[in-house]
Amino acid sequence: MGQKAIDIANLDVAELIQMLNEALAEEWLAYYQYWVGARILEGPMRSEVEPELLLHATEELGHAELVADRIIQLGGTPILNPALWTKYAKCDYAEPSDPYIEEILKQNLEGERCAIQRYQDIAEYTHGKDMSTHQMAIGILNDELEHEHDIEDFLADINRLKEDIRKIRM
Ligand code: FE
Ligand code: FE
Ligand code: MG
Repeated sequence: MGQKAIDIANLDVAELIQMLNEALAEEWLAYYQYWVGARILEGPMRSEVEPELLLHATEELGHAELVADRIIQLGGTPILNPALWTKYAKCDYAEPSDPYIEEILKQNLEGERCAIQRYQDIAEYTHGKDMSTHQMAIGILNDELEHEHDIEDFLADINRLKEDIRKIRM
């Protein structure tokens, strides 16, 4: 960490680096969850949902890059071994063993809600103390809020479709 950076960081940097490494592990797992989920997906609206999930995967990878770079700026080391990802992550990886679109989306939704809490926590921890990490956390938080909303919309549309089919059958 640069000297001036050390002078102005009015918080426990080791604790912050730990939080950021947990976030980094979560981003990689979220990336893979979206990436593999998009590929095995089955069910209605697949052609619309698949590209959006792949876009989200790319965005999670972008978050991993931002977080890793910030860890290095703070004098820390990003997790060097993927075997540690599931140990660090507080947001669980949900194995997409059921490829049905609704199940995949529900798993992704849970992951997004966990990510929102993660960046809310980092933003609160750094508020008024480490503006740079704070700003990064807010930026990522905004993406995660958008991801949550996208998935909620897909799930609402699928539910609407199911209701319409039910009405036709009656
Ligand atoms: Fe993310
Ligand atoms: Fe996300
Ligand atoms: Mg989106």
